[in-house]
Amino acid sequence: MKITANNPERKSWLPVDSNSDFPIQNIPFGVFLTKEYITTIGTRIGNYAIDLGALHQLGYFKGIPLTEDIFMQDTLNDFISDGRKTWRLVRNRIADIFDVNNSELQNNSKDKEVIIFNLKDIEMLLPISIGDYTDFFSSKEHATNTGTMFRDPENALLPNWLHVPVGYHGRSSSIIVSGTEIHRPKGQTIAPNATQPTFGPSKLVDFELEMAFITTDANHLGDAIPIDEAEEYIFGMVLFNDWSARDIQKWEYVPLGPFLGKSFASTISPWIVTMDALEPFRVPSPKQEPTPLTYLQQKGDNSYDIHLQAAIKPEGKKETIVSNSNFKYMYWTMIQQLTHHTVNGCNVLSGDMMGSGTISGPTPDSYGSMLELSWRGTKPVQLVEGGERKFINDNDEVIMRAYCTNNTIRIGFGECTGKILPTK
Ligand code: MN
Repeated sequence: MKITANNPERKSWLPVDSNSDFPIQNIPFGVFLTKEYITTIGTRIGNYAIDLGALHQLGYFKGIPLTEDIFMQDTLNDFISDGRKTWRLVRNRIADIFDVNNSELQNNSKDKEVIIFNLKDIEMLLPISIGDYTDFFSSKEHATNTGTMFRDPENALLPNWLHVPVGYHGRSSSIIVSGTEIHRPKGQTIAPNATQPTFGPSKLVDFELEMAFITTDANHLGDAIPIDEAEEYIFGMVLFNDWSARDIQKWEYVPLGPFLGKSFASTISPWIVTMDALEPFRVPSPKQEPTPLTYLQQKGDNSYDIHLQAAIKPEGKKETIVSNSNFKYMYWTMIQQLTHHTVNGCNVLSGDMMGSGTISGPTPDSYGSMLELSWRGTKPVQLVEGGERKFINDNDEVIMRAYCTNNTIRIGFGECTGKILPTK
């Protein structure tokens, strides 16, 4: 089935700024609270939120096999379970409804009143109920930087790294939507040269510039997903800030990996941009040497050219952009990560989320964490209004952005923001 929603010629009758992340070719999915305090599934065009529950109730999805209440829910999990064919039909239909050449809704002010909301009148909620969350470690530059800092510059990558998409199971209960404030976590840390740990607020709170993908029900327990099919099970992507307390992490992570240094909070952007919308921005992933084992060998272009940005905004001050990276730097692709995740028979469900791992590029201005940008605190990052940062201070807001662009369209993710408040 053709993705007619992606037609770059298409224009919407809703006004959209030329530099908007959300032209009619995007049609992401999210969940929001209306000013009448009703939770609904929606999409976004320009600065308008569109209530899909109301659209469906008023008959605009006629002919598409959808249950009556599919959009009148507080998560997207059931819609995601419906599978790729349904996602595509719904996106194509939404594009038609809001196409400038279609007068059906455009000329119906009564329907428009209950379907279309100004973005400032709604509140975005967490779009999915995340059953399981896995975070990978798939940027070679990031793995090399951290290996150089903490172990041995000569052998920065551990022997498994070029063969296995390394990952760990994270905590899903503390995944929060953009805009949610976070208190500085407390925990055990050990001072340099000390022999005993102490307890207190983390001194080294950091962000990790990541993206994450959301899956549909992919396999039954015991079955593996072949790499050629993996893409079918990926619904879409969000921006992902995998907040990290480096001092807690450093003390606790041996030998079982990250724990409380990560699980205090992770922030996602509210709109899930579908893989269909990202289709025009496919690019090859980095050449893999040595060739991975057969089950991880992929064909075609499996990465995406997504510009990434991280900024720090101290309270009452202008933001400083501290990193410009790109999703295409990822060494292991999403289909390799998903295939690897299920190769032992582990089942993946609708609403599961997989983080890419910190996405660092090849140059120091493209590193995806303060740990790398300040090189473990040895090279403070200068802020535009004076002052410097090694890590994140109290009342700093971290703002992440992601977008794709070519000569004709721009598809973006909006912002993923979070503020670190003083410890509780
Ligand atoms: Mn991470």
